[in-house]
Formats: sequence, C-alpha cells, structure tokens
Amino acid sequence: MKDDAHRAYHRHLLGRMADVLGLDLELETDISRLSRAQLERAVTRCAGCPDPAGCELWLEEHAAGTDEAPHLCRNKSLLEHLRESY
Ligand code: SF4
Repeated sequence: MKDDAHRAYHRHLLGRMADVLGLDLELETDISRLSRAQLERAVTRCAGCPDPAGCELWLEEHAAGTDEAPHLCRNKSLLEHLRESY
C-alpha cells in the first residue's frame, strides 16, 4: 500500500475506533480538546499498528459500542483519556 493510502486507511480505522468509544475526533479538534498535531500523531501511531486486520475484526465485534479500546491499540491511552475526561 502506498504511503498516502496506508495513512488514509489508518485514519479511517482510528475514526472507527473513536466511534465505537463514542468519540468524534473531528469534533474533538473543532472544540480544541485535541489539537490537529495530536490527531496527526495519533494517525502516525495507528499507521504503525502491528495488527490492523485484528483491529478490523475487533471493530466489527464492538460495533454497538464499548468503554475500552483493545490492548493492541496504540491509541488506547489517548482515546480513553478523551472519553474519560467528559
Ligand atoms: S487497534 Fe491499531 S489499527 Fe486499530 S485504531 Fe488502534 S492503532 Fe489503529
């Protein structure tokens, strides 16, 4: 996968991960709870995830929503911090 497509794919997975946790990362940046730089760093971490296929399976299994990201998620701390700080 080319770099741009790889990054776009992970931006999509990160958005889905946020969604099952009840978060909207675009909204988080709009209301300045997350900076654009932090969001881009999160996409970069996601792009280095060792198991995106496992992520996709996990997302399908948790489509109805959940409280915690999986342990494999490289953005678990960030996402759970955003969720818990409401
Ligand atoms: S589990 Fe991996 S691929 Fe899925 S959102 Fe987290 S870092 Fe990205």
